[in-house]
Amino acid sequence: MVAVLLGWNPGVGDTWPGYSRVVDELGASGVYRRAWPTGTGTQPGPGADAWLLLHGKTGSGLLGHGVVASAPHHAGDLVGAAPWVDVDFDVLLPLGDQIPVDILAARAPLTDWAAAATGPCRPVPEEQARAIRELWAECRPADEIDPVLPVPGTLPQDALARVCVNRYERNPHARRVCLAHHGTSCAVCGFSFEAAYGPEGAGFIHVHHLVPAAQLGPGYELDPVGDLVPLCPNCHTMAHRRRIPYSVAELRAMRSRAGYISGSVVSQQELDAQADARRILGST
Ligand SMILES: [Zn+2]
Ligand SMILES: [Zn+2]
Repeated sequence: MVAVLLGWNPGVGDTWPGYSRVVDELGASGVYRRAWPTGTGTQPGPGADAWLLLHGKTGSGLLGHGVVASAPHHAGDLVGAAPWVDVDFDVLLPLGDQIPVDILAARAPLTDWAAAATGPCRPVPEEQARAIRELWAECRPADEIDPVLPVPGTLPQDALARVCVNRYERNPHARRVCLAHHGTSCAVCGFSFEAAYGPEGAGFIHVHHLVPAAQLGPGYELDPVGDLVPLCPNCHTMAHRRRIPYSVAELRAMRSRAGYISGSVVSQQELDAQADARRILGST
């Protein structure tokens, strides 16, 4: 199963207290994990798209997207016979901004959207899953700052290596201040798009936020010079290869250990020489 609908009725019980606060939190950190009951039917596997479907008096429609992040489990104090899964939400829209259910129904015909919304977790057939993704892509603004990064929910999960980027890396003002101070060459490898590609490359570089999402309290205020650094897309991707991103110093150390010289093709002899050097220096 590639996708599920997670039905949510804010009017019934207090199932998601402080949702609007969570929307802000997600904006800051880029991802919000929450356990979700899956009911007794077919269980979604890790990697499945999870679409938050709002219904009830508040309104109805597509409110958010996430990715199933765990196998079904029986959470300790969340009592009940049915299992739960962890969902990593990457987009949660404020209440009222949902994509209306009639638009959804027109694009992704499902026998009964109303019934789908009332269950906590319903599988979506492949064809409808694709239609939802396309609709979502049309309704979500493209990323102006980083055209390389896909908007969450618009590509099949198995086509994606996930890079979590947070709001601060997309903030145009903070980005300008950061680049005015640090310049537009990569802080790890020194790559400059202007030097490599000429005028067309001028000014292009990713901006990476150094403060781990977990340390972003409500009182956090961004320091665009101290907390952001320019990174080329390669170094940026490497930074986010770990859940707590690698620091600039760690990435530089990684590169110097690997011994790769920017812009050159490494020959087998050079690789052998590096292996010898490592052996002699006792680092392997
Ligand atoms: Zn770099
Ligand atoms: Zn980053």
